[in-house]
Amino acid sequence: MISKIKKALIHELIGNTPLRKCGYLSTENKTNIYIKEEFHNPGMSSKDRPALYMIQDAIAKNKIKKGGEFVEASSGNTGLGIAMIANELGFKSTIFVSQTCSDEKIAMLESAGARVEICENSNGLHDFYSTQFKAQSYASNHPNAYFTNQYYNSGNIKAHYLTTGPEIWEQTKGKITHFIVGVGTGGTISGVGRYLKEQNKDIKIWGVEPSGSILSHFLEYGEVPDDNTKMEPIEGIGRTFVPGSFDGKYVDKIFQIGYQESADRAVSYRKDSGLLTGFSSAAVIAALDKYVEDMDFQPNDLVVLLFPDHGSRYISKLYAGETNASFGSSIFTNQKIASQ
Ligand code: PMP
Repeated sequence: MISKIKKALIHELIGNTPLRKCGYLSTENKTNIYIKEEFHNPGMSSKDRPALYMIQDAIAKNKIKKGGEFVEASSGNTGLGIAMIANELGFKSTIFVSQTCSDEKIAMLESAGARVEICENSNGLHDFYSTQFKAQSYASNHPNAYFTNQYYNSGNIKAHYLTTGPEIWEQTKGKITHFIVGVGTGGTISGVGRYLKEQNKDIKIWGVEPSGSILSHFLEYGEVPDDNTKMEPIEGIGRTFVPGSFDGKYVDKIFQIGYQESADRAVSYRKDSGLLTGFSSAAVIAALDKYVEDMDFQPNDLVVLLFPDHGSRYISKLYAGETNASFGSSIFTNQKIASQ
């Protein structure tokens, strides 16, 4: 019986997400695989965390006045965090998303009170058609509008350094050996990576990005490749420029996965486990298969995969065409679910 009902604001419920041992992936990889399930945040993604830090920082530094408008360039999830928190605290929001953003995310943004503008790409501030350029010019032309700019806002890394990293360390009782996550702005891998390396420098911090994205090349050679036009966009991850929120000091390696590989793995994971995953989470699972030899897990390792959001956000793109799709009670008859 619930004895105490706590009254809380929505933004006070951000963080403290569960870490779940995944029996299916542990068996497949012959090691201990845990999933940090970030879709338990109120906006149903990891990006609620930086959204909260960036908003609180802007308010504390008087960069925006009550009733003003928060502006962000986002693949959808940061935008949803911003829209939800802004709404609760009495602010408006305008979110610039790229045309790859799923219909579900756009509908969620609008229902959270955001005005949504769809742009051609998210190639950074120097591209006139990008979400970042449009967001910055919109904010500078509207009084009392503030561009949170997750790609260069220190609150992005800080949120994960101060919350996600310590949570994982405590939840694994310091036994974590590997942390693996998709890389978009780089805020998660840089913040969690820094915190974990400060506790134990031997913990492997690995990223996953789409084929043609430039961060793995940048990490290895310290420069952007000559051709940065070949990226296969996977929603939420991948970059054609190096964001200020990516700090390679705490990253050991970044693996690449193709768009189709991640989509196919989302579908096979659902069939095997009965669970829906987002694109970037599926990209991480696909990387476990593809780079099994490089990763070389040992039976006593404790591997944490961070799942930034949930597959329900991508039904139209990932699962709608599936024959035999089962999202309801039939998944409970799937034998493999018993090991979840
Ligand atoms: N996956 C999804 C679904 C995301 O929305 C994001 C953020 N764009 C990421 C992964 C990457 O997180 P980060 O920006 O912290 O690198």
